[in-house]
Amino acid sequence: MSIFLTSLISGAEVAAQAARQAQQTSQVTQTTNLIQTDVAYLREEVERLSLLNQALWELLRERLKLTDADLEQRAQEVDLRDGIPDGKMRKHPLRCPKCGRVSNSRHRRCLYCGLEFQGDIFG
Ligand SMILES: [Zn+2]
Repeated sequence: MSIFLTSLISGAEVAAQAARQAQQTSQVTQTTNLIQTDVAYLREEVERLSLLNQALWELLRERLKLTDADLEQRAQEVDLRDGIPDGKMRKHPLRCPKCGRVSNSRHRRCLYCGLEFQGDIFG
């Protein structure tokens, strides 16, 4: 093989590798842009839901004569429904000890028979 042909093949391989790297960089950039768009959307949704939550609480507090202490107590009760006092509400399937049907741990009562769930049967 001539030295000219060898150099030509080597140059083509370098060019192909550069093209693959450029394509990978472009894909990473596109993925990064999508993630940034998702984060911005989720941030706006959280702000919107926080505003609605605040408005609902103020309305309920006024109309039903509730207090912030009432809200705090209920928030602690809801927090403990998944068995972990961590300020989060994890949900998991829960088999009712009375009727045997499956409800969701977010609920206070069995959706089917109305049994009020106790904290110790979660988790
Ligand atoms: Zn039940």
